[in-house]
Amino acid sequence: MPLYEYFCLDCHERFEALRAMKDADALILCTKCKSEHTVRAISLFNAQSGGRVIAGNSSAGCAGCSSGSCSTCGR
Ligand SMILES: [Zn+2]
Repeated sequence: MPLYEYFCLDCHERFEALRAMKDADALILCTKCKSEHTVRAISLFNAQSGGRVIAGNSSAGCAGCSSGSCSTCGR
């Protein structure tokens, strides 16, 4: 079961919860103040792996990309 991170809009508490993927965006109460005003946060892990994917795509975009400036794909 994946671990999701949530953020409370009322008390600014960040907390994590193990939930089924289908329940990821379902209502969850704040662990600190029991508020219903919570949003799912994008975890640091996902942000970092997303950056690696972007870097990998740009270096493998085309032959011109490896030299730094590329007129073929615009990167
Ligand atoms: Zn709260």
